[in-house]
Amino acid sequence: MDELRRLFHSVADHAADYRRSLPERPVGVPIDQSRLVEAFAGPLPAAPTPPEQVVAELVAAAEPGLVATAGPRYFGFVVGGALPAATAADMLAAGWDQVAFNAVTSPAAVAAEAAAGDWLKDLLGIPASASVGFVTGAQAANTAGLAAARHQVLADAGWDVERRGLLGAPSIRVLAGAERHATIDRSLRLLGLGTDVVRPVAAGPNGAIDLESLRGALRAASPGPTIVCLQAGNVNTGACDELREACELVHRHGGWVHVDGAFGLWAAASPATRHLTDGLELADSWACDGHKWLNLPYDSAFAFCARPDVHAAAMSYTASYLVGSGGAPVGADLTAESSRRARGFAVWAGLRELGRDGVAALVDRCCALARRFAEGLTAAGFEVANEVVLNQVLVGFGDDARTDRVVAAAQAEGTCWVGGTTWRGRRLMRIAVSNATTTEADVDRSIAAMVRLAAE
Ligand SMILES: *Cc1c(COP(=O)(O)O)cnc(C)c1O
Repeated sequence: MDELRRLFHSVADHAADYRRSLPERPVGVPIDQSRLVEAFAGPLPAAPTPPEQVVAELVAAAEPGLVATAGPRYFGFVVGGALPAATAADMLAAGWDQVAFNAVTSPAAVAAEAAAGDWLKDLLGIPASASVGFVTGAQAANTAGLAAARHQVLADAGWDVERRGLLGAPSIRVLAGAERHATIDRSLRLLGLGTDVVRPVAAGPNGAIDLESLRGALRAASPGPTIVCLQAGNVNTGACDELREACELVHRHGGWVHVDGAFGLWAAASPATRHLTDGLELADSWACDGHKWLNLPYDSAFAFCARPDVHAAAMSYTASYLVGSGGAPVGADLTAESSRRARGFAVWAGLRELGRDGVAALVDRCCALARRFAEGLTAAGFEVANEVVLNQVLVGFGDDARTDRVVAAAQAEGTCWVGGTTWRGRRLMRIAVSNATTTEADVDRSIAAMVRLAAE
């Protein structure tokens, strides 16, 4: 074998060994961060180092600080694992080192994005005519969607924001649920709108936007450029806004609807949960993650827009040396990046690996396991604080201090990893079930650990 082949083989072996260790290795790593930093630190040597030695050093330095987020008992932050074919495709993307800027820099990357984009729209019930930008995360997808929104609501008011910027522009109102994800606010900051434009709209009992409050807020905001941020999948409760009624309301007022569906949009991919996202096709833009519930490797997300021309008007650019793409916007026309990783290969591979039924089964299984958590912990005498409609479960173990203690103890103990959150003024354990390899036995083992730790 030549040297490069040996190097790649060794890395593949290492990654496979690591994946095999996931079901049994401690999930979290309570390690002293400074020791890890030290392992990587030191002056950059002046002389080159042979690649095999570099990789061996990297593995030795990183291994003690790896968190088993890809494993079956990681329930923090809606993380999700990484499907085998998708991971392998991502390795190929690095091996091929393609630039997914457009069809001139990589015809294959653009073709993969086109096919995967069609599959995604079909699975999620987004109109086939929508554009899809393959972006780094739902944060970037929210930014792209809101950039398109900003373009259109100002164009409707006779203002070209791409040319003139926001100085002197008509002011924009952004109505967003009180329980929106924090990335919405950062996107608004990055787009120069600032967070003061947000008029928070009250949420109902399970965290979905309250339609009466939205109606009132729209009346108060109009007339004038208005963007409404809806949500499929409240990051604490999993609740989805009533998209059909909300979209119809907003459109009657001439506003733009952006849906943050980072993980919750996947409810649309299963017949059992599709009703939660009923009416999603009426929105104007959507953000959805691949690296969370779809179990694609990082970084992978999708910015959909009902109007490809608006999407491209907000995001694309031209330069004298960029020729040949022509036609429909592709690749970098739809994202904030110029040179970009060919993440479409992993998306294509992950969807192909699961198939339509596999995606639905993944969603159903995670929801069933979330209900199993809720039932098991309720039976053990603890309080489930949300209505478990999707894959998110909020658990109280008594008062705030005791709940925080159980969360911290679980993180240190290593059977599973769960996060803490503050919801409606209370500290709660937040369990997100979004890994394709999680089994009932994993849930039962995690419940047993939580019950044991709560008793200590
Ligand atoms: C995770 C999440 C985001 C941010 O997604 P990233 O992929 O981390 O950028 C946005 N909105 C919601 C509802 C989320 O759950």
